[in-house]
Amino acid sequence: MQTDPLKLRIAHLYPDLLNIYGDMGNVLALERRAMWRDIEVETVRIKAGDSICADDFDLFFAGGGQDNQQIIAANELIRNGAELMRAAQMNKPMLVICGSYQLFGKYYLTGDNQKLRGISILDIHTEAGFKRFIGNVTAVCDFLPVRTIVGFENHSGLTHLGEEVEPLFKIKVGNGNNGLDKTEGARYKNVFGTYLHGPLLPKNPHFCDYLLQLALDVKYKCSIPLLPLNDQIEYYAHESRICAKY
Ligand code: GLN
Repeated sequence: MQTDPLKLRIAHLYPDLLNIYGDMGNVLALERRAMWRDIEVETVRIKAGDSICADDFDLFFAGGGQDNQQIIAANELIRNGAELMRAAQMNKPMLVICGSYQLFGKYYLTGDNQKLRGISILDIHTEAGFKRFIGNVTAVCDFLPVRTIVGFENHSGLTHLGEEVEPLFKIKVGNGNNGLDKTEGARYKNVFGTYLHGPLLPKNPHFCDYLLQLALDVKYKCSIPLLPLNDQIEYYAHESRICAKY
């Protein structure tokens, strides 16, 4: 039986480069929802030049960024790609959003035809389109206790999924991966890529808890159920963002 205090270490990848639309709020939500349950959290901000060891972390997060920042981040991710892949193979949860979602795939072809090589943890590829997809998104999923997911997208990249990943969510309102196939994001093992900013996790506490639960299960190799929280206000926020058309 687990008697020592529970502890999680989060790697926040390149917050200096990849942090738009309040993506930092995702890390705050993970920290707070863990700490409110007496789970200790230590977040390490990974900067350009740092080396990552997969064993040092229980959960990984990376946010979105524009093309200029993505070029720098792409090189950094490649330097640490083998360790990030090792963490993914160990089933450690990772949430990567928009710009970093694209870079966790095989490649991202920018609007000025630069091919940024990704780290290929996700079997996806992305090419810049001619239109920006901007707006609120309502999606659904089949692996969370609350089916709806809400977020905000702003991207021109069109992402296509290969056979090694499954779509993360199904679009009800919005564009998602490519505006055509109604898929949003991608999942491989416990690696979750999505276009949804928001920040995503404060607006979707059920997804936040899902990631924390995975991190605990993988770290402690047994199921430690998360204590319930008084989070009615968070769920009001979630419901208020569900698109009326849904
Ligand atoms: N540069 C990417 C795109 O527009 C990612 C943007 C983002 O992270 N919001 O497709």
